[in-house]
Amino acid sequence: MRKDFLPFSKPSISEDDIKAVGDVLRSSWITTGPKNAEFENSFTKYIGCHGSVALTSATAGMHLLLKALGIGPGDEVITPSMTWVSTVNMIVLSGAKPVFADIDRNTLMITPESLEKCVTGKTKLAIPVHFAGAPADLDPLYAISRKHGFKIVEDTAHALGTAYKGEMIGRRGTSIFSFHPIKNITTGEGGMFCSNDQELLTQIRQLKFHGLGVDAYDRQTFGRAPQAQVLEPGFKYNMTDISAVLGIRQLAKVEEFNSKRRSLAALYRKELSGIEEIIPLSDPDYAFTHSWHLFIVRLDIEKSGMNRDEFMGELKKRNIGTGLHFRAAHLQKYYLDKMGEWNGRLPETEWNSERIFSLPLFPDMTGEDVRDVVCAIKEILKKH
Ligand SMILES: *Cc1c(COP(=O)(O)O)cnc(C)c1O
Repeated sequence: MRKDFLPFSKPSISEDDIKAVGDVLRSSWITTGPKNAEFENSFTKYIGCHGSVALTSATAGMHLLLKALGIGPGDEVITPSMTWVSTVNMIVLSGAKPVFADIDRNTLMITPESLEKCVTGKTKLAIPVHFAGAPADLDPLYAISRKHGFKIVEDTAHALGTAYKGEMIGRRGTSIFSFHPIKNITTGEGGMFCSNDQELLTQIRQLKFHGLGVDAYDRQTFGRAPQAQVLEPGFKYNMTDISAVLGIRQLAKVEEFNSKRRSLAALYRKELSGIEEIIPLSDPDYAFTHSWHLFIVRLDIEKSGMNRDEFMGELKKRNIGTGLHFRAAHLQKYYLDKMGEWNGRLPETEWNSERIFSLPLFPDMTGEDVRDVVCAIKEILKKH
C-alpha cells in the first residue's frame, strides 16, 4: 500500500510562480491592474476569441451573464443536471426556471436530441458543458439554438486547451472558464468570460465592477475621474493582480500540463482495460483534442456488489484520494425538495450520478502513482 496520501488533484505551482506573486505583492498595485490586462490579452490570443474579461470565479461569470442577458422570472434555461451546482444555483437565483437535459451515458454530455426535447417557447438560453476535457457536439447544438432562437453559452470550466474538429473551445461564441485550484490552470480562485460579442463583453466588464464602466486601474492609469458614475447597478467580481499574475504564468504552461495529463490518462486506460467493474468514459465520435481535466470512471455496482461511496472510502483507506464530478444537481437536497418532479426523469444522468467518481489526475503525478491507484482498485475488488 502507498505510504503517502495521493490527492485526486493538485495544482502545479513552481517557485518562479510564487516569486511572481511576491513581486506583485511588493509592487504598489495588487488589485485589478496591469497583470489583469496582460492575462486577458494572452488568454484572448490563446483561445482565439474576440475578447476576455477576468473575474473572481466562473460562478461569478454565470451570474453576470444571466444578468446581462436579462434572464429572470418566466424564462427557461436548459442545462444538464450533470454539472456543477453553481450553474443551477445561478439560474434559480435569477428567478428563471432550470430545465434539465439528459446526457449521453458514456460521454456525460447533452446530445442534440436531449437538447431539442427541452426547448419550449420560454427557452432563452442553453448551457452545454464540455465534460472532463472532451468537447460537446457544438455544430448540431448551435444549429438547434439558431432554429429556435435561443442563446448558447458554453461551460468551459473543464475545457482549457480542448479542441472540437480542430477549433479551440471558447472560440465560437460565449464561454466561461474556471481557474479553481483543481482546473487545468489556477489563479487560486478565478474565472474568464470569453466572447465574440463585443457588446456583451462591454456589459460584463461594466457589471463586474459596480456598473461603473471603469475599474480603479482605468481610473488611475487613463486619468478617468474618480467620480465615475454608475451606469447600471453592478457587482464586485474583478480579479486581483495577485491572481492574474499566476494566471499569466500558468497559461504559458497549459500545453505542457495538458500533455502530461494526456499521457497519464492513456496509462490509466491501458491499466484499467481488463477490469470490468470499472467503466471509463467513452470518446465522442467526432474529431477532438482532449484536455483531460478529469479521469472519470463509473463503478459497476451490480458486478462489484458495492456502492460508489463505499468504494471511494476503501480507496481512501489505501491512501488514494478521489473526487465526485458530479452528484446530479436535481438529486441534491434543495432541488429534490423544491423540484422533486425531476426525480426519475433523467435516466442516464441518474445512472451516472450513482456510480461516478474521479481518479487522481494532475500534471505532477507519475506513472507509478497511476499504477498505485489501479493496484488499490484491483485489491478492493478482489477482497469483495
Ligand atoms: C468548476 C466548475 C464551475 C465553477 O467554477 P468556479 O470558478 O469554481 O466558480 C462551473 N461548471 C463546472 C462544470 C465546473 O467544473
